[in-house]
Amino acid sequence: MPIEFERSVDEARFKSPFEEFETVAETIEHRTDPLTGRSVRIVPQAAPTPDPDDRPDLDDAIGDGEECFFCPHNVEDVTPEYPAFVGVDRGARGEATSFPNLFPYSKHSNVVALTEDHFRPMDELGADRLADGLGCALEYVQAVADHDDSAFASINMNFLPPSGSSIVHPHMQAIADDHGTDRQARIARREREYEAEHGARYYDDLLERERGGDRYVGDTGDVEWIAPFAPLGKWHVTGVADTTGLLDPDDGAVDGFATGIANVLDYYADLGLNTFNVGLRFARRNPASQVAVDVLARSVFEDRYINDMFYFQTVHDQRSIDVAPETYASEVAAHFE
Ligand SMILES: [Zn+2]
Repeated sequence: MPIEFERSVDEARFKSPFEEFETVAETIEHRTDPLTGRSVRIVPQAAPTPDPDDRPDLDDAIGDGEECFFCPHNVEDVTPEYPAFVGVDRGARGEATSFPNLFPYSKHSNVVALTEDHFRPMDELGADRLADGLGCALEYVQAVADHDDSAFASINMNFLPPSGSSIVHPHMQAIADDHGTDRQARIARREREYEAEHGARYYDDLLERERGGDRYVGDTGDVEWIAPFAPLGKWHVTGVADTTGLLDPDDGAVDGFATGIANVLDYYADLGLNTFNVGLRFARRNPASQVAVDVLARSVFEDRYINDMFYFQTVHDQRSIDVAPETYASEVAAHFE
C-alpha cells in the first residue's frame, strides 16, 4: 500500500511553575497529510476546553429574526433572484430556500437558507433538513454545470460568528467555477497523480487502509467517515462517497452525507461546542476525485471567545490541533451507531 503516514515528535523543555519549577517536556508532533503534503502540529492544549454543563446563553446574539434577510417573512423582498439559466427565481426543497449570493466568492455563488426558524442549534438541524439543503444546493450546482461546465463546485457552511458567519440564520453556500479553491484544486491534482501512479483512487486506498483502525468512524450508507491522520483543525471528520462527478439531488449519498454531518454535529454539541465549518467538494471533470466532505469544529461562541485562527494559520498557513484524531475518532463513532 503506497500511502505513507509521516510523523515526528519534538520536545519543548521548560521549568514549570506547576511542578515546583522542575524541568518538564511537552511534545509537539508534526504530521504530514499523505495526499496534499500539508503539515499539522499536534500541540499541548491550545484553547480552553469547552464545558458541556455550562453552555453560553446565545439569545442576545441570535435575536428574534425580525430584520433577518433569511427569515421567511423577508427572504423574497431582500434576497436576489437567479439569472435565467437556473430556471427558477429561487430554489426550494423542504424548508430550504436558495438564491444567489449578494456577495459572491466565485463566478457562481449561492446561499441556501436551511430552516424556516430563524435559528436552531447545530444538533437540532437534523439530517432531513441538511439533506434538503444539500439537495437544494445541488439543484443549483447542476444548473451551473449544465450552463457552463464549471470544473469545480463545493457546498459549504459557516455556523455562528467564530466560524466566519455574519448571519446566524442556518445556511449553506455553494460555489462553482473553473478554478476550485486552493485546497480543492491541490487535492484534485494529487488525486489525478496518485491514480496515474498507483492505478487506484486515493480515497479508496485510504479507506481500505483505515477500516478497522483507530481513525475509522463508520459509514452512513454510501458514505464512509474517518478522522484524518493530519486534521485541518479541531475534531476534523471527513466523509467520502464512492462517487465521482456531481451528485444528483436525490442520490442516496446525499442522505449519507446529511446523516453523517448530523452525527458529527451531535458529537460536537455533546462536547459543549456550538460552531463549525463544512465543505463538500466536487471536481466534476476528474474521474480520480471522489466526492468528499470535511467537517471541523470552531471556537465556542460565547462572550470574549478566543478565535482559533491565529498567527500560525493567518501568517504561516500552518494548521495546529490539540486532540489527536486517534483520540476522538471512537467518540465520534459512538454517534454513528
Ligand atoms: Zn432568520
